[in-house]
Amino acid sequence: MADFNRERVVELANFIISSNGNTSYLDEINNILKDQNIDEILKCFYEGFTSTFTMASSYGPEDQVLVEKLSAIDKNISIFTIDTGRLFQETYNLFERTNEVYGIKIKVFFPNNELVEKMVNTKGINLFYLSIENRKECCHIRKIEPLKRALNGNKIWVTGLRSEQSITRINTSLIEWDAENQVIKLNPLKDWTDTQVWDYIKLKNIPFNKLHNQNLPSIGCLPCTRAISEGEDVRAGRWWWEQPEHKECGLHNRPIK
Ligand code: SF4
Repeated sequence: MADFNRERVVELANFIISSNGNTSYLDEINNILKDQNIDEILKCFYEGFTSTFTMASSYGPEDQVLVEKLSAIDKNISIFTIDTGRLFQETYNLFERTNEVYGIKIKVFFPNNELVEKMVNTKGINLFYLSIENRKECCHIRKIEPLKRALNGNKIWVTGLRSEQSITRINTSLIEWDAENQVIKLNPLKDWTDTQVWDYIKLKNIPFNKLHNQNLPSIGCLPCTRAISEGEDVRAGRWWWEQPEHKECGLHNRPIK
């Protein structure tokens, strides 16, 4: 594997930010980093953008892989999570365990309480089952609004997105521009398969959500997650009452090509 020009990568990343996602810079940076070592890519961006580099974790298996890798670079690296208020107890247990195992402190963001109160008092506690609009409103208030606050001031946002996860993620690139949040999204695991993720978790003895052992490969909020049957898509248990092309909470929206 050839080395890559780190200065040029950081320079291009800055050009992408200042040009609001110019596609030729995006193509060039993706080309340079194609097939490069993930740990070296993470290190390059962390060293180039230390105080404006962050990772969002929802404690999925991919996020746990990235937390292991990032905490090995620097235990003070910025990692955050969003507590929607509707998560599984097993997920909260993993919050604690991950901090303990890696000696880190993942920062927690909560939804705005006034917005939650207004939504629930107007539309009910289980509004998301009634319509896609209601479901998107709930995701917006409980996830997107806190995400915006968490990303504010950052330039690099590391995610655990993988192309094979769902129809909505097929076109994931290593480096993407998120115009909504004005950040570069870095998706180091985009080409990893499910088997690769789990092999790495086993190899490194990484803590994971015990619900994965109960046919819940993708875990979000408790009322919007169910177990899947054999042969179903890994994200089939998320918002199972909706069509696959609608199944994003808005954190990672992209056009389906
Ligand atoms: S996943 Fe369900 S409960 Fe969680 S924020 Fe979205 S609609 Fe609300």
